[in-house]
Amino acid sequence: MRIEILTIGDELLLGFTIDTNGAHLARELAAVGVEIVRRTSVGDGAEVIAAAVREALDRTGAVITTGGLGPTADDMTKPAIAALFGRAMVMDAEHLAWLEERWRTRFNGPLPVSNRQQALMPEGARKLVNRHGSAPGVWLEDERGRWVAMLPGVPREMRGMLADTLLPTLRERAARESGAGRAEPPVVRSRTLRTTSIAESMIADRLGALARGVDGLSLAYLPGQEGVDLRLTARGLPAADADAALAGAVARLRELVGTWAYGEDAEELPEVMLGRCRAAGLTLSVAESCTGGLLGARLTAVPGSSDVFLGGVIAYANEVKRGLLDVPVEMLAEHGAVSEPVARAMAAGARARTGARVGIAITGVAGPGGGTEEKPVGTVWIAVDVDGEVRTHRSVFIGDRGEIRFRASQFALELLRRTLARTAAV
Ligand code: AMP
Ligand code: MG
Repeated sequence: MRIEILTIGDELLLGFTIDTNGAHLARELAAVGVEIVRRTSVGDGAEVIAAAVREALDRTGAVITTGGLGPTADDMTKPAIAALFGRAMVMDAEHLAWLEERWRTRFNGPLPVSNRQQALMPEGARKLVNRHGSAPGVWLEDERGRWVAMLPGVPREMRGMLADTLLPTLRERAARESGAGRAEPPVVRSRTLRTTSIAESMIADRLGALARGVDGLSLAYLPGQEGVDLRLTARGLPAADADAALAGAVARLRELVGTWAYGEDAEELPEVMLGRCRAAGLTLSVAESCTGGLLGARLTAVPGSSDVFLGGVIAYANEVKRGLLDVPVEMLAEHGAVSEPVARAMAAGARARTGARVGIAITGVAGPGGGTEEKPVGTVWIAVDVDGEVRTHRSVFIGDRGEIRFRASQFALELLRRTLARTAAV
């Protein structure tokens, strides 16, 4: 099945909102064998919306739109497309009653007049249920079987409606179109192996002959703040064959990338490291200077972190490093706050004050000011202390202040990963 995507909203054209809906739709649809042949964005105008949908229907006959289903004057997707199909807008009494009930019980008041238009539907349209908001989606089809599915702009609502209602509809339709007895439709699926703190060129060297692709699957190197992701993609195979080919290829990649890989697909390093600590019976605390709590925030963002993560100290000023982490004044004076001994002392202090078995300390120069020849902007000392056995590392991270802080938090977890892989039974 071939379709087009139309994302609607002035904010997309002005660049204030990034079109994550288009990206999400593309990924999800490819995985079930729906081919996206074109993505377009237009502003909030009835004429431009109608023109874009008309052209897409002429080319492809199947369109998914997002945005412009809200209750305000700039939301004109439904009437614009209804007019294109020559359909009147009619009040959906059932949805209106539901909206009124929702306002009475959730917001304790009468339905604002503006919301009434959310219950107006093009004649002959099918409603797509929205469990996450008040604007229903719309499925509109003409006599020739050409169709438009209208989804909300709010990403959470769009994703929910896609998974709950639209994907099942499209799967069914694709099966009907391909006909009984025909081969399963080909899909596009990917798996990702995640690495951090290793250059993509070093990975490519390790992969040798496989650097360009594995077993006929394409291989992409995706460097970012978190590290380099290696994404394998299968194209043109039925779902089961694609999954099997990807599983085999991921296993081969893992053999070569080995200990550099910390996880797969959506796995994040904080979640992975909390899991390793949990498995090893270790508790964890942090002492953060230049990251100002970022590492603690990333760890506590993981549900269930409380059985491993005990807490920590944001020791930004030297007085706090001394007062709350017992870093000796003479050490600070002699070596400076950004130094190996201070990082060690901070990690030991975090352990001593919280009773955790693991202490992670970060102290560095996040910039843009404060750099010196000896300690340029981006210089960060990290110490990992596991039961008194300490590993330290000095990095000079590149990027702006935000990137340096993020990379420092990421490498701190990576240093813990490497430490545990050698010193503990995990
Ligand atoms: P709308 O349904 O057009 O009123 O959109 C509601 C909100 O959803 C907008 O304010 C945007 O923040 C967001 N939004 C709309 N379209 C997109 C899109 N294509 N990608 C990401 N966010 C979007
Ligand atoms: Mg809008």
